[in-house]
Amino acid sequence: MEYIASHLKIQKQLIFSKDILVIQDIDGVCIPLVKDPMTRKLESKYIYAAKSLAEEFFVLTCGEHEGPRGVNRIIERSLRSSIEPKKKELYLRGLAACGVEYQENNGEISFEGVSEKELNFLSIVPSLIRPKFDLIVKSIFPDLNQEDINFHAAKSICQTRFSPTINFNSLFELGEKDFNKRKLVQISFEKMMDEIIYEAENEGLKNSFFLHISPNLGNENDREIIKLSSKSDIGSTDIQLLIKGAVKDSGVLFLLNKFIEIKTGKAPFGSNFNFRDAPKSLREKIDLCKKSIQIGDMPLIVGVGDTVTSKKNNGEKSYSRGGSDRSFLEFIQILGNEFGINNKIIFVDSSSGEVERPSTKKSDLMGISDVYDNLKFDLVFKDGPKEYISWFIELANKRSNFKKTS
Ligand SMILES: [Mg+2]
Repeated sequence: MEYIASHLKIQKQLIFSKDILVIQDIDGVCIPLVKDPMTRKLESKYIYAAKSLAEEFFVLTCGEHEGPRGVNRIIERSLRSSIEPKKKELYLRGLAACGVEYQENNGEISFEGVSEKELNFLSIVPSLIRPKFDLIVKSIFPDLNQEDINFHAAKSICQTRFSPTINFNSLFELGEKDFNKRKLVQISFEKMMDEIIYEAENEGLKNSFFLHISPNLGNENDREIIKLSSKSDIGSTDIQLLIKGAVKDSGVLFLLNKFIEIKTGKAPFGSNFNFRDAPKSLREKIDLCKKSIQIGDMPLIVGVGDTVTSKKNNGEKSYSRGGSDRSFLEFIQILGNEFGINNKIIFVDSSSGEVERPSTKKSDLMGISDVYDNLKFDLVFKDGPKEYISWFIELANKRSNFKKTS
């Protein structure tokens, strides 16, 4: 009972607030996690609900909007049309590729801050990965023939415009229950992706790229720490080559800048602000907001994500904390505290999909958060995307009714 009551209480608060801004991850939140990203599905009712929130809603994802693997293709499939989403402006508005690719509802895309040379290098990354992929897979799974390797390569190497990715799900199925094999896949491909970064440096792109590992165990010396597979947790499933500065917390600054510009006519960080202009640390980001944003212009921000990790270090009292949604959720939480606004942090449990993850139903927040974690969730959707979507649709309908009448 208490569980349902808190969901309704926060929903009600959001319906009647003056200005709200929902910043929401996509995969695992409104789309259930699947092993093959090409089979992802999105409920059409959700798409209309997101649209009805208008300027109060943005997505913030590390996937991409455009291309054969993009979320836009899922929307077209869901609405059974490749013309309607553009005509009725039903594409999801917001940032993709971890903060690089911005899209309006009509599907118009911009990516300020990325150089031509970087784009060119990104476009050849899949072809650089391919021969290395064959070598690694042959050494870990010597029984595979070339035809099988080709099949897995097509599933594992994602040719995306801003974030070429290697995904392990298809290879993990070969290892089945053997988590040592899964670990070997993770370690070998991380090393391989490092080699690609060296190749970029040799081409004169010294400070251009970094590896984004999902899920990860936080950062050490400016590198994300891979989460190796264990018996009960599959660990990291993706490594993306990203443009430096493409992190979700910088995305929050970009979206906040846009939101306030629409509301007040003035962009607090300047109208050309992009992810490359964002300061690096959370502290500097907070300071930038405090310096540039008037308290009255700050909305109540709702951050929604599903990828947050916390792992107790063996034999120590400390924890390794990470996950690709952690930094942006933490940023939103601290920002609320500093501005005296009760921002809301929402966690959606994506473990019910096809990808093994820690489950809040089985073991509460173990593997996700811990008692010493500064990040606190205001709401947890234990039943995953399905439960979140129905709560979200109700929120969007009631919110738009309230705005029409107020
Ligand atoms: Mg996600």
